[in-house]
Amino acid sequence: MNIIIIGAPGSGKDSLSRRIISQFNNYQVITTGSIYRKEAEAGTEFGLKAKEYWSKGCLCPDEMTNNLIVKTISELQNKENLIFNGYPRTLNQAEFLDTITTITLAINLKVDEEVSIKRLLSRDREDDLEDIVRHRFAEYKIRSSSIIEYYSRSNRIHFINTSNSSEQETYEKALEILLTEEK
Ligand code: ADP
Repeated sequence: MNIIIIGAPGSGKDSLSRRIISQFNNYQVITTGSIYRKEAEAGTEFGLKAKEYWSKGCLCPDEMTNNLIVKTISELQNKENLIFNGYPRTLNQAEFLDTITTITLAINLKVDEEVSIKRLLSRDREDDLEDIVRHRFAEYKIRSSSIIEYYSRSNRIHFINTSNSSEQETYEKALEILLTEEK
């Protein structure tokens, strides 16, 4: 089963995907944000180009991100049980993903903006400065409704509100959804 995790910055996508793979070692996570950051650290042309976008809190272009996904999947030995973390983020990406793989389930982590900002400012990442974070949040709000609607139409989406939940509680709710879906 391939799943996607959608959510605003600071909604807990990374923590949730980490918990899932630590419990189910047959799952693999593809995190576009961290692939982009690693490429920039490695100083590749691609990575530096992408950094022009993410360092300002803007999304990287769809074509760039879709190509990245194709390349990442092609390099995997086992192409099953994938968790897409932070992808898709636009309707174009969601539609593209459906042409290259089968997504059974989308989990949408919901979070209040102020909770999100507080969580992000407590980490130590280059693009976690308040105005950049607010920009990422605003960008998410603009893009996410069409993706959520896209997965709702095909009955593939489940929602978890993480504002008042611990990582463990969020994980337990996700687990319930996963296990029900796997039956
Ligand atoms: P967050 O969810 O906290 O905003 P991520 O680590 O998921 O952070 O993403 C960091 C940056 O990487 C984004 O601001 C964006 O520039 C880029 N990025 C990640 N995923 C995508 C995507 N699916 N489409 C376009 N850009 C992306």
